[in-house]
Amino acid sequence: MNRELSAMVKEIKSCKRCGLWKTRKNPVIGDGSPNSRIMLIGEAPGYNEDISGKPFVGEAGKILNELLKSVGLERKDVYITNILKCRPPGNRNPRPEEIKACVPYLDRQISLLKPRIIATLGSFAMSYIFEKFGLKKEKISSVHGKVFKVNNLTGTVKIIPLYHPAVAVYNKNMKTTLLKDFRSLCTE
Ligand code: URA
Ligand code: SF4
Repeated sequence: MNRELSAMVKEIKSCKRCGLWKTRKNPVIGDGSPNSRIMLIGEAPGYNEDISGKPFVGEAGKILNELLKSVGLERKDVYITNILKCRPPGNRNPRPEEIKACVPYLDRQISLLKPRIIATLGSFAMSYIFEKFGLKKEKISSVHGKVFKVNNLTGTVKIIPLYHPAVAVYNKNMKTTLLKDFRSLCTE
């Protein structure tokens, strides 16, 4: 698995499948433990992630670390990645054609790492993962924190849609909601 993951890292470093390669400093592939049963999927690298090559190291990352800690997890206990591996300029939203070009990498990460729990952070990750696993399109405001069980060839996978931690940067209520929703990561 690690050999395949390293091969993918090399590929992504020279990837030009969408226009974002032109402005990226570093692609952001993933962080944490590839052996974890939990995979978290965010949206795309921001300013700090583009510089460091690691996901969730800025403001949203601080909140993510706190949220994980609240349920007894550290970053090394989970695997964290994003829908897009390169930063959209000015942190604009991912474009449909960029998502389409980049998700084959995420698909490969999922089939190599075989997570038992996939938690999506924000609506872009949620839309893609719901579609991939044949779940009905939903609004994040109606399903955040719920656990969706899907069966695939390797067993049952739990899909948990969560709000993006960045929504809590200036919003205490959202932080409370996120703290509550993160508990779904520990339900059996
Ligand atoms: N927001 C994301 O969605 N991903 C990151 O890696 C950082 C911020
Ligand atoms: Fe390639 Fe994805 Fe980066 Fe686009 S965002 S250049 S598809 S790695």
